[in-house]
Amino acid sequence: MNRIVPPGGTIGVLGSGQLGRMMALAARRMGFRVHTLSPDTDTPTGQVADVEIAAEYEDLDAIRAFARGVDVVTFEFENVSADAADAAAEFAPVRPSGSALHITQQRAREKAFLADRGFPVPAFSRVQSLDELAVALGTVGLPAIVKTAAFGYDGKGQHRITAIDQAEPVWSLVGHQTAIVEQVVDFACEVSVIAARGLDGEVVDYGAIENVHVNHILDLSVAPARVPGQVATEARALARRVLEELGYVGVLCVEFFVTKDHRLLVNEIAPRPHNSGHLTIEACATSQFEQQVRAVCGLALGSTAQARPAAMVNLLGEVWNDGEPDWDAALSLPGAALHLYGKQHPRAGRKMGHITVVADTVDEAAARALEARAVL
Ligand code: AMP
Repeated sequence: MNRIVPPGGTIGVLGSGQLGRMMALAARRMGFRVHTLSPDTDTPTGQVADVEIAAEYEDLDAIRAFARGVDVVTFEFENVSADAADAAAEFAPVRPSGSALHITQQRAREKAFLADRGFPVPAFSRVQSLDELAVALGTVGLPAIVKTAAFGYDGKGQHRITAIDQAEPVWSLVGHQTAIVEQVVDFACEVSVIAARGLDGEVVDYGAIENVHVNHILDLSVAPARVPGQVATEARALARRVLEELGYVGVLCVEFFVTKDHRLLVNEIAPRPHNSGHLTIEACATSQFEQQVRAVCGLALGSTAQARPAAMVNLLGEVWNDGEPDWDAALSLPGAALHLYGKQHPRAGRKMGHITVVADTVDEAAARALEARAVL
Protein backbone atom coordinates (compact mmCIF):
# COMPACT_ATOMS: atom_id res chain seq x y z
CA MET A 1 0.00 0.00 0.00
CA ASN A 2 1.92 3.00 -1.27
CA ARG A 3 -0.74 5.43 -0.20
CA ILE A 4 0.19 9.03 0.55
CA VAL A 5 -1.52 10.65 3.52
CA PRO A 6 -1.73 14.41 3.01
CA PRO A 7 -2.22 16.92 5.85
CA GLY A 8 -5.78 16.67 7.12
CA GLY A 9 -5.39 12.89 7.31
CA THR A 10 -5.20 10.89 10.52
CA ILE A 11 -2.08 9.22 11.90
CA GLY A 12 -2.57 6.34 14.33
CA VAL A 13 0.19 5.83 16.90
CA LEU A 14 0.56 2.55 18.79
CA GLY A 15 2.15 3.54 22.09
CA SER A 16 1.58 6.69 24.08
CA GLY A 17 4.87 7.90 25.55
CA GLN A 18 6.95 11.01 24.98
CA LEU A 19 8.06 9.96 21.49
CA GLY A 20 4.43 9.79 20.40
CA ARG A 21 3.76 13.07 22.14
CA MET A 22 6.49 14.96 20.30
CA MET A 23 5.48 13.35 17.01
CA ALA A 24 1.85 14.26 17.63
CA LEU A 25 2.81 17.88 18.33
CA ALA A 26 4.69 18.01 15.01
CA ALA A 27 1.82 16.28 13.21
CA ARG A 28 -0.84 18.60 14.57
CA ARG A 29 1.21 21.64 13.65
CA MET A 30 1.16 20.35 10.07
CA GLY A 31 -2.61 19.86 10.13
CA PHE A 32 -2.81 16.11 10.73
CA ARG A 33 -5.07 14.45 13.25
CA VAL A 34 -3.55 11.97 15.68
CA HIS A 35 -5.08 8.93 17.37
CA THR A 36 -3.14 6.97 19.97
CA LEU A 37 -3.66 3.53 21.48
CA SER A 38 -2.04 2.10 24.62
CA PRO A 39 -3.24 0.39 27.80
CA ASP A 40 -3.23 3.71 29.70
CA THR A 41 -5.15 6.97 29.83
CA ASP A 42 -4.02 10.57 30.29
CA THR A 43 -0.78 9.58 28.59
CA PRO A 44 1.99 11.83 27.23
CA THR A 45 0.71 11.21 23.69
CA GLY A 46 -2.97 11.10 24.61
CA GLN A 47 -2.79 14.53 26.20
CA VAL A 48 -1.93 16.11 22.85
CA ALA A 49 -3.74 13.70 20.48
CA ASP A 50 -7.23 14.08 19.01
CA VAL A 51 -8.29 10.66 20.23
CA GLU A 52 -6.86 8.43 22.99
CA ILE A 53 -7.91 4.77 23.04
CA ALA A 54 -7.15 2.60 26.09
CA ALA A 55 -6.68 -1.04 25.04
CA GLU A 56 -4.11 -3.78 25.45
CA TYR A 57 -1.73 -4.33 22.52
CA GLU A 58 -2.78 -8.00 22.59
CA ASP A 59 -6.41 -7.00 21.97
CA LEU A 60 -6.25 -7.48 18.21
CA ASP A 61 -9.90 -6.52 17.70
CA ALA A 62 -9.20 -3.19 19.37
CA ILE A 63 -6.12 -2.76 17.16
CA ARG A 64 -8.22 -3.49 14.05
CA ALA A 65 -10.90 -1.00 15.11
CA PHE A 66 -8.16 1.56 15.76
CA ALA A 67 -6.60 1.00 12.32
CA ARG A 68 -10.01 1.37 10.65
CA GLY A 69 -10.25 4.89 12.06
CA VAL A 70 -6.92 6.19 10.73
CA ASP A 71 -5.10 6.60 7.40
CA VAL A 72 -1.69 5.25 8.46
CA VAL A 73 -0.44 3.42 11.54
CA THR A 74 2.95 3.90 13.14
CA PHE A 75 4.33 3.03 16.55
CA GLU A 76 6.36 4.96 19.04
CA PHE A 77 7.96 2.07 20.87
CA GLU A 78 9.07 -1.27 19.55
CA ASN A 79 7.42 -3.58 22.02
CA VAL A 80 4.23 -3.74 20.01
CA SER A 81 3.86 -7.35 18.89
CA ALA A 82 4.21 -8.32 15.24
CA ASP A 83 0.66 -9.75 15.54
CA ALA A 84 -0.63 -6.30 16.46
CA ALA A 85 1.22 -4.77 13.49
CA ASP A 86 -0.27 -7.44 11.20
CA ALA A 87 -3.79 -6.84 12.55
CA ALA A 88 -3.41 -3.10 11.95
CA ALA A 89 -2.09 -3.74 8.43
CA GLU A 90 -5.43 -5.33 7.47
CA PHE A 91 -6.95 -1.85 7.50
CA ALA A 92 -4.21 0.74 7.09
CA PRO A 93 -0.60 0.91 5.92
CA VAL A 94 1.79 0.28 8.82
CA ARG A 95 5.01 2.29 8.58
CA PRO A 96 7.65 1.23 9.39
CA SER A 97 6.54 -2.26 8.38
CA GLY A 98 5.75 -5.10 10.74
CA SER A 99 8.76 -6.98 9.37
CA ALA A 100 11.16 -4.15 10.30
CA LEU A 101 9.54 -4.08 13.73
CA HIS A 102 9.86 -7.85 14.04
CA ILE A 103 13.62 -7.76 13.39
CA THR A 104 14.44 -4.78 15.57
CA GLN A 105 12.27 -5.56 18.58
CA GLN A 106 14.28 -8.62 19.54
CA ARG A 107 18.00 -8.35 20.17
CA ALA A 108 18.92 -11.84 18.98
CA ARG A 109 17.13 -11.34 15.65
CA GLU A 110 18.51 -7.83 15.28
CA LYS A 111 22.10 -8.91 15.96
CA ALA A 112 21.80 -11.85 13.57
CA PHE A 113 20.35 -9.54 10.90
CA LEU A 114 23.30 -7.16 11.31
CA ALA A 115 26.01 -9.82 11.53
CA ASP A 116 24.63 -11.74 8.52
CA ARG A 117 24.89 -8.59 6.41
CA GLY A 118 28.42 -7.78 7.48
CA PHE A 119 27.70 -4.89 9.82
CA PRO A 120 30.35 -4.58 12.55
CA VAL A 121 28.89 -5.71 15.89
CA PRO A 122 30.46 -6.65 19.25
CA ALA A 123 31.22 -10.37 19.63
CA PHE A 124 27.97 -12.00 20.74
CA SER A 125 26.24 -15.31 21.11
CA ARG A 126 22.59 -16.33 21.41
CA VAL A 127 21.96 -18.58 24.41
CA GLN A 128 19.01 -20.62 25.65
CA SER A 129 20.43 -22.59 28.56
CA LEU A 130 22.97 -22.29 31.36
CA ASP A 131 25.26 -24.69 29.48
CA GLU A 132 25.09 -22.54 26.37
CA LEU A 133 25.80 -19.48 28.50
CA ALA A 134 28.94 -21.10 29.93
CA VAL A 135 30.18 -22.01 26.43
CA ALA A 136 29.35 -18.53 25.12
CA LEU A 137 31.31 -16.85 27.92
CA GLY A 138 34.30 -18.89 26.78
CA THR A 139 33.94 -17.57 23.23
CA VAL A 140 32.93 -14.00 23.92
CA GLY A 141 35.30 -13.57 26.87
CA LEU A 142 34.97 -11.75 30.19
CA PRO A 143 33.69 -9.27 31.17
CA ALA A 144 30.47 -9.88 29.27
CA ILE A 145 26.92 -8.56 29.34
CA VAL A 146 23.89 -10.82 29.27
CA LYS A 147 20.85 -9.15 27.73
CA THR A 148 17.38 -10.59 27.45
CA ALA A 149 16.59 -10.96 23.77
CA ALA A 150 13.13 -9.43 23.91
CA PHE A 151 11.54 -6.32 25.29
CA GLY A 152 14.62 -4.63 26.69
CA TYR A 153 15.36 -0.95 26.61
CA ASP A 154 17.35 1.53 28.70
CA GLY A 155 19.46 -1.30 30.07
CA LYS A 156 16.46 -3.19 31.42
CA GLY A 157 17.17 -6.92 31.49
CA GLN A 158 20.97 -6.45 31.31
CA HIS A 159 23.47 -8.13 33.63
CA ARG A 160 27.23 -7.81 33.62
CA ILE A 161 29.31 -10.94 34.25
CA THR A 162 32.90 -10.43 35.39
CA ALA A 163 33.63 -13.93 36.73
CA ILE A 164 32.45 -17.32 35.53
CA ASP A 165 30.73 -18.14 38.85
CA GLN A 166 28.25 -15.32 38.17
CA ALA A 167 26.82 -17.23 35.20
CA GLU A 168 24.44 -19.30 37.32
CA PRO A 169 22.86 -16.45 39.36
CA VAL A 170 22.50 -14.29 36.23
CA TRP A 171 20.92 -17.16 34.33
CA SER A 172 18.39 -17.64 37.14
CA LEU A 173 17.35 -14.00 36.55
CA VAL A 174 17.11 -14.05 32.74
CA GLY A 175 17.01 -17.76 31.89
CA HIS A 176 13.26 -18.01 31.37
CA GLN A 177 13.79 -16.62 27.88
CA THR A 178 16.32 -16.41 25.08
CA ALA A 179 19.23 -14.13 25.85
CA ILE A 180 22.31 -12.86 24.13
CA VAL A 181 25.78 -12.69 25.64
CA GLU A 182 27.95 -9.90 24.39
CA GLN A 183 31.51 -8.79 25.02
CA VAL A 184 31.82 -5.62 27.12
CA VAL A 185 33.17 -3.03 24.72
CA ASP A 186 35.79 -0.71 26.21
CA PHE A 187 34.55 2.14 24.07
CA ALA A 188 35.95 5.66 23.70
CA CYS A 189 32.46 7.05 23.24
CA GLU A 190 29.01 6.24 21.93
CA VAL A 191 27.36 7.85 18.92
CA SER A 192 24.03 7.49 17.20
CA VAL A 193 22.80 8.34 13.74
CA ILE A 194 19.17 9.18 13.17
CA ALA A 195 18.11 8.66 9.60
CA ALA A 196 14.90 8.50 7.64
CA ARG A 197 13.79 6.79 4.47
CA GLY A 198 10.76 7.93 2.52
CA LEU A 199 8.18 5.91 0.63
CA ASP A 200 10.07 6.70 -2.60
CA GLY A 201 13.38 5.44 -1.19
CA GLU A 202 14.89 8.85 -0.49
CA VAL A 203 17.23 8.74 2.52
CA VAL A 204 18.35 11.56 4.82
CA ASP A 205 20.34 11.54 8.04
CA TYR A 206 21.19 13.92 10.87
CA GLY A 207 24.89 13.15 11.15
CA ALA A 208 26.57 11.62 14.19
CA ILE A 209 25.26 12.55 17.63
CA GLU A 210 27.43 11.81 20.67
CA ASN A 211 25.78 10.15 23.65
CA VAL A 212 26.72 9.70 27.29
CA HIS A 213 24.81 7.07 29.27
CA VAL A 214 24.55 6.83 33.06
CA ASN A 215 23.27 3.53 34.50
CA HIS A 216 22.52 2.39 30.92
CA ILE A 217 20.13 5.34 30.43
CA LEU A 218 20.92 8.19 28.08
CA ASP A 219 22.01 11.23 30.06
CA LEU A 220 23.52 13.72 27.60
CA SER A 221 23.54 14.03 23.81
CA VAL A 222 25.56 16.53 21.83
CA ALA A 223 25.57 17.25 18.12
CA PRO A 224 27.66 17.25 16.08
CA ALA A 225 29.52 14.39 17.80
CA ARG A 226 33.09 15.17 18.85
CA VAL A 227 34.62 12.36 16.78
CA PRO A 228 37.01 12.37 13.80
CA GLY A 229 35.24 13.23 10.53
CA GLN A 230 35.96 9.80 9.12
CA VAL A 231 34.14 8.13 12.05
CA ALA A 232 31.08 10.32 11.57
CA THR A 233 31.07 9.68 7.82
CA GLU A 234 31.30 5.94 8.31
CA ALA A 235 28.54 5.93 10.97
CA ARG A 236 26.24 7.78 8.58
CA ALA A 237 26.99 5.34 5.78
CA LEU A 238 26.27 2.36 8.05
CA ALA A 239 22.98 3.86 9.24
CA ARG A 240 21.91 4.49 5.67
CA ARG A 241 22.74 0.92 4.76
CA VAL A 242 20.59 -0.34 7.67
CA LEU A 243 17.65 1.61 6.25
CA GLU A 244 18.21 0.17 2.79
CA GLU A 245 18.65 -3.40 3.99
CA LEU A 246 15.42 -3.17 5.99
CA GLY A 247 13.54 -1.54 3.09
CA TYR A 248 12.50 0.81 5.84
CA VAL A 249 9.97 3.64 5.73
CA GLY A 250 10.19 6.09 8.62
CA VAL A 251 12.78 7.37 11.10
CA LEU A 252 15.20 5.05 12.81
CA CYS A 253 18.22 5.36 15.03
CA VAL A 254 21.39 3.28 14.91
CA GLU A 255 23.46 3.35 18.10
CA PHE A 256 27.19 2.68 17.90
CA PHE A 257 30.16 2.16 20.15
CA VAL A 258 33.31 3.96 18.97
CA THR A 259 36.38 1.98 20.02
CA LYS A 260 39.58 3.65 21.15
CA ASP A 261 41.14 2.87 17.76
CA HIS A 262 38.21 4.59 16.00
CA ARG A 263 36.28 1.54 14.88
CA LEU A 264 32.49 1.52 14.91
CA LEU A 265 30.41 -1.33 16.33
CA VAL A 266 26.63 -1.28 16.03
CA ASN A 267 25.02 -1.62 19.46
CA GLU A 268 21.37 -1.52 18.50
CA ILE A 269 18.71 -0.19 16.18
CA ALA A 270 15.64 1.68 17.39
CA PRO A 271 12.85 1.57 14.77
CA ARG A 272 11.50 5.03 15.62
CA PRO A 273 12.62 8.52 16.59
CA HIS A 274 15.15 8.34 19.41
CA ASN A 275 16.00 10.12 22.64
CA SER A 276 19.33 11.24 21.18
CA GLY A 277 17.43 13.06 18.43
CA HIS A 278 15.32 15.27 20.66
CA LEU A 279 17.79 18.08 20.07
CA THR A 280 16.77 18.14 16.41
CA ILE A 281 13.62 20.00 17.52
CA GLU A 282 15.60 23.15 18.27
CA ALA A 283 18.76 22.50 16.26
CA CYS A 284 17.61 21.28 12.83
CA ALA A 285 15.51 22.56 9.98
CA THR A 286 13.22 19.53 10.31
CA SER A 287 12.95 17.73 13.65
CA GLN A 288 13.13 13.93 13.80
CA PHE A 289 9.44 13.99 14.75
CA GLU A 290 8.33 16.05 11.76
CA GLN A 291 10.56 13.78 9.66
CA GLN A 292 8.70 10.74 11.01
CA VAL A 293 5.39 12.35 10.09
CA ARG A 294 6.64 13.15 6.58
CA ALA A 295 8.09 9.66 6.07
CA VAL A 296 5.16 7.60 7.34
CA CYS A 297 2.71 9.79 5.42
CA GLY A 298 4.68 9.28 2.21
CA LEU A 299 5.55 12.97 1.86
CA ALA A 300 8.85 14.57 0.83
CA LEU A 301 11.48 14.38 3.54
CA GLY A 302 12.70 17.63 5.11
CA SER A 303 16.16 19.17 5.38
CA THR A 304 18.23 17.82 8.25
CA ALA A 305 20.53 20.85 8.21
CA GLN A 306 21.71 21.81 11.69
CA ALA A 307 21.97 25.55 12.22
CA ARG A 308 23.97 25.52 15.47
CA PRO A 309 25.64 23.04 17.83
CA ALA A 310 23.26 21.63 20.42
CA ALA A 311 23.13 19.54 23.57
CA MET A 312 20.32 17.77 25.39
CA VAL A 313 20.09 16.48 28.95
CA ASN A 314 17.40 14.11 30.13
CA LEU A 315 15.31 14.92 33.17
CA LEU A 316 14.66 11.70 35.07
CA GLY A 317 12.38 11.29 38.06
CA GLU A 318 15.31 11.92 40.41
CA VAL A 319 15.18 15.62 39.49
CA TRP A 320 12.04 15.79 41.66
CA ASN A 321 13.77 14.27 44.73
CA ASP A 322 13.76 17.58 46.60
CA GLY A 323 10.31 18.69 45.48
CA GLU A 324 9.24 20.68 42.43
CA PRO A 325 12.28 21.68 40.36
CA ASP A 326 13.15 25.37 39.95
CA TRP A 327 12.02 25.70 36.32
CA ASP A 328 12.50 29.43 36.32
CA ALA A 329 16.20 29.09 37.13
CA ALA A 330 16.77 26.74 34.19
CA LEU A 331 14.72 28.82 31.79
CA SER A 332 16.76 31.89 32.71
CA LEU A 333 19.80 30.39 30.97
CA PRO A 334 20.21 31.66 27.41
CA GLY A 335 19.11 29.16 24.77
CA ALA A 336 17.62 26.61 27.20
CA ALA A 337 14.42 24.95 25.93
CA LEU A 338 12.33 22.91 28.37
CA HIS A 339 10.31 19.86 27.35
CA LEU A 340 8.11 18.05 29.89
CA TYR A 341 6.14 14.99 28.90
CA GLY A 342 3.05 15.40 31.11
CA LYS A 343 3.83 12.38 33.29
CA GLN A 344 2.29 12.51 36.74
CA HIS A 345 4.64 10.38 38.83
CA PRO A 346 8.38 11.19 38.84
CA ARG A 347 9.76 7.72 39.60
CA ALA A 348 13.53 7.15 39.73
CA GLY A 349 14.89 6.43 36.23
CA ARG A 350 11.65 7.53 34.54
CA LYS A 351 12.12 9.94 31.63
CA MET A 352 10.03 12.96 32.63
CA GLY A 353 11.40 15.55 30.21
CA HIS A 354 14.54 17.04 28.74
CA ILE A 355 16.33 20.34 28.23
CA THR A 356 18.00 21.33 24.97
CA VAL A 357 20.51 24.14 24.59
CA VAL A 358 21.82 25.50 21.30
CA ALA A 359 25.05 27.49 21.40
CA ASP A 360 28.09 28.49 19.34
CA THR A 361 30.06 25.34 20.17
CA VAL A 362 29.13 21.83 21.31
CA ASP A 363 31.19 22.26 24.49
CA GLU A 364 29.32 25.42 25.37
CA ALA A 365 25.96 23.80 24.62
CA ALA A 366 26.82 20.76 26.73
CA ALA A 367 28.07 22.87 29.65
CA ARG A 368 24.97 25.03 29.62
CA ALA A 369 22.59 22.08 29.32
CA LEU A 370 24.24 20.43 32.34
CA GLU A 371 24.07 23.73 34.19
CA ALA A 372 20.37 24.09 33.35
CA ARG A 373 19.70 20.72 34.91
CA ALA A 374 21.92 21.44 37.92
CA VAL A 375 20.05 24.61 38.84
CA LEU A 376 16.73 22.76 38.89
P1 AMP B 1 21.40 -1.02 25.31
O1 AMP B 1 20.07 -1.07 26.01
O2 AMP B 1 21.87 -2.32 24.81
O3 AMP B 1 21.47 0.08 24.30
O4 AMP B 1 22.44 -0.58 26.43
C1 AMP B 1 22.37 0.67 27.05
C2 AMP B 1 23.77 1.15 27.35
O5 AMP B 1 24.48 0.18 28.12
C3 AMP B 1 24.63 1.34 26.12
O6 AMP B 1 24.36 2.54 25.47
C4 AMP B 1 26.01 1.29 26.76
O7 AMP B 1 26.31 2.49 27.44
C5 AMP B 1 25.85 0.17 27.76
N1 AMP B 1 26.19 -1.10 27.08
C6 AMP B 1 25.33 -1.95 26.50
N2 AMP B 1 25.98 -2.99 25.91
C7 AMP B 1 27.30 -2.79 26.14
C8 AMP B 1 28.49 -3.51 25.78
N3 AMP B 1 28.47 -4.65 25.09
N4 AMP B 1 29.69 -2.98 26.17
C9 AMP B 1 29.73 -1.84 26.89
N5 AMP B 1 28.65 -1.12 27.25
C10 AMP B 1 27.44 -1.59 26.90
